[in-house]
Order: sequence, then structure tokens, then C-alpha cells
Amino acid sequence: MTRLDPVAAEGPFAIGQLALPFYSDAHRALADDLAAWIARERSSIAAIAELPRAEGARAMVRALGDHGWLEIATEGDMQSVCLCRQAFAWLEDLCDFAFALQGLAAFPLRQAGRGALVADLASGRALGALALTERGAGSDLAAVTTRAERTGEGFTLSGEKAWIGHAGVADIVVTLARTGGGGAFGLSLFAVPGAAPGVTQSPGPEMIAPRALGSIHLQDAAVPEAALLGAEGLGFVTAVQTIDAFRMSVGAAATGFARAALQAAVSHVRQRRVEGRALAERQLVKAALADMAVALNTAELSVAQAAWEWDRGVATAATRSSLAKLHASEAAHQVIDMAVQLLGAAGLAVNAPTERLYRQVRSLRIYEGTSEMQRLAIGQAVAAGQL
Ligand SMILES: Cc1cc2nc3c(=O)[nH]c(=O)nc-3n(C[C@H](O)[C@H](O)[C@H](O)COP(=O)(O)OP(=O)(O)OC[C@H]3O[C@@H](n4cnc5c(N)ncnc54)[C@H](O)[C@@H]3O)c2cc1C
Repeated sequence: MTRLDPVAAEGPFAIGQLALPFYSDAHRALADDLAAWIARERSSIAAIAELPRAEGARAMVRALGDHGWLEIATEGDMQSVCLCRQAFAWLEDLCDFAFALQGLAAFPLRQAGRGALVADLASGRALGALALTERGAGSDLAAVTTRAERTGEGFTLSGEKAWIGHAGVADIVVTLARTGGGGAFGLSLFAVPGAAPGVTQSPGPEMIAPRALGSIHLQDAAVPEAALLGAEGLGFVTAVQTIDAFRMSVGAAATGFARAALQAAVSHVRQRRVEGRALAERQLVKAALADMAVALNTAELSVAQAAWEWDRGVATAATRSSLAKLHASEAAHQVIDMAVQLLGAAGLAVNAPTERLYRQVRSLRIYEGTSEMQRLAIGQAVAAGQL
């Protein structure tokens, strides 16, 4: 029998997780690096999270860039991206958020061979944003109305993007805009400088969990021909590939949040005494802990499986990515809610770890494709005999 690893027992990864055949020695070394970095930088990351939103976002990206983590976000395999997101979400929501946004912005740039811009995102010198959503086009991205008109030298973009991570601080805004007729194949992607004339970034509104998020208004924003990423009319396809790849990593972040909640709950029920005995000795409490462990364990496995398939180009990888995101984000919500319940009133005090996790995990069932959209995609694949 393998010895329990005390670091793993209290850290972001499940006991035995890294021993699974999904992971290589390089992933095991990465997990050790993550654990060591977290132990060293924990208080400085917590201090960055308390800074005003824009300043904090820049400082978080710099901290991640300084250690080289953003090279994984922008160019790493998905198994490594998922390990990072599991660890960063366990540590601090805003750390995971900054890491994910750099990766999301870099993916289409990498596909289009824009190595210099990817390097800026990987170093933390530049903050990236992926601007797909509009007030009238979220789940149905083919309804995007932001327009890109051809000019002699390039394009001018006009429209408004909503709910965009890093809006207010983004240096490179990868923007989905309409270059052709209606529908998905009228859309193209552009790398728009965040400070270009005609680009206005507005933070807000404040969300349930504080993050650098807002709107990006484009008013005749002129960009050169070179800003077009890939072929005209294929922007939707690249946007979908980007989200397909990163969707499972939302599941990974969910498991990081959930593990932190489970650990808080275990610590509480061991200490809290009711009627002369620790809560942990009560059968109903054990049943709750069992349900939490089952939900978290299956979530971690579904994420590992999806990333393993993605990194090998398996045909079912995109559907598994949806499955991992759906299951892990829903399971994490359940685990965190149960942790709040086990802590009682103390679990709901503002800024108690469980109260923060309760707010932080909620948006994961909405962004990068809602739970309903994942069910539609998975159900369609199952009905077609593809899973
Ligand atoms: C914290 C956060 C960060 C985000 N960051 C970014 C970002 O960086 N870049 C970006 O581009 N976007 C970002 N978004 C936007 C996000 O991708 C969208 O919110 C998401 O795609 C859902 O779109 P919507 O909000 O317009 O909801 P809608 O599409 O209006 O959906 C509302 C409800 O209707 C349901 N619904 C929609 N269509 C169907 C259907 N066909 N059948 C059944 N039910 C349906 C949905 O499941 C949902 O429950 C972010 C959102 C949040 C909350």
C-alpha cells in the first residue's frame, strides 16, 4: 500500500491522483512545482487578490508570468493546463481567472501563427481577452452583430462585446466580428490592440464574485489586414475550437474549488462537537462526506479523461470536454453547497472560505457554454452513437 502524502492530503490534488496512468512523469513534476510554488507564494497571491480590480489583474498576470506558468496556459498540453487550473482555483479564484484568460486569448493567436503576440501573453507582458459574447449573442454565438468592414488598409470594427474577462485592462482583445453575411460562416476573428483608437473598455457590472470583467465598445476601430486571424469566415470555427479545448479546464477549476470546500468541511466536522461528540462521528455527516467525495472523485476523473483524449487527438475529445465541464461544474456546486451546510452559520459568514467558494463557483455553470448547452451537445453525440 502506498504511503499517504501529507502534502497531497492537504493540497489541491487528490491523494493518488497523479499516480493515475493519465499522467506522465512530467505531469507529476509539474504537480510538485505547483505545490511548492503555492506554499511559497500563498500570502503574496492573497495580497494581490485584495488589490483594486485592474491593478490586481495586472499583478496576478505578472506573478504567473514571472514563474513561467503562462507558458503552460498559452502553449501547454491540456493535461498540464488542467492541473494548473485545479491548483490555482484551489489557491485563489483570481489566480485561476488570470491564467485561463491568458490561455483563451492565446489559443486563436497560436492557431493563426502569431508567435510574437503569444509570447507577450506567455511572459505576462500583455493581458489578453477573448471577446466573443454580446448582450444579444451568448449561447448562440452565430448571432454576433459586431461588424468588421473592409477598408483600403484593413478593417474597421464596430459593436459591443459584453461579459468579457480582462475588459478594462486587456492589451490584446481577440474579437469575433461579422465580415460576411448572417450565420456562423460570416464571422472572423481579429487581434485588436486594447488601446487602439475607437476601443473603449468599461469594467462592470460587479458580479457575484469580484473579477476584472466588463464590456468592450468598438467604434470604427481601425486595424490592419494583419489583425485578421486565420481565414475570413472561419472565426466561428476557431472560437468553437478554443472553447472546446478550454471547456474541460473549467471542470478542472471546479474541482479545485470543490476540494478546498471539502477540506474546510472535514476540518470543521472533526473539531465541532455536538451533544458531546464530534460531528464527524455522526452517520448523516459521514453520508454527506461520502456524497461529496463521490461527486469530486468522478469530476476529477472526467476532467483527466477529457484532457488525456484531447492531448491525443481522440475523436470524442470535444464531447468529453463538454461532459467534464458539465459534470465537474455541477458536482462542485453540490460539494460546496454541502460544505456550507456542514459548517452551519459559520459557513455563510462573509469571506469565510466556504462563502467565497459558494459565490466563486457559480459562474462556471454559465461561462464557456452553459450546462444546458453542454447537455444538448452531449445528448446529440450520444443519440448519434458517437459516445
Ligand atoms: C464570469 C463570466 C466570465 C465570462 N467571460 C467571458 C469572456 O471572457 N469572453 C466572452 O466572450 N464571454 C464571457 N462570458 C460570457 C459567457 O460566455 C456567456 O454568459 C454564456 O455563453 C451564456 O450566454 P448568455 O449569458 O448570453 O446567456 P443566454 O445564452 O441568454 O442563456 C440564458 C439561459 O438560456 C439557456 N439557453 C440558451 N439557449 C438555449 C437552448 N438552445 N436550449 C435550452 N436552453 C438554452 C441557457 O442555458 C441559460 O440558462 C463570461 C460570463 C461570465 C458569467
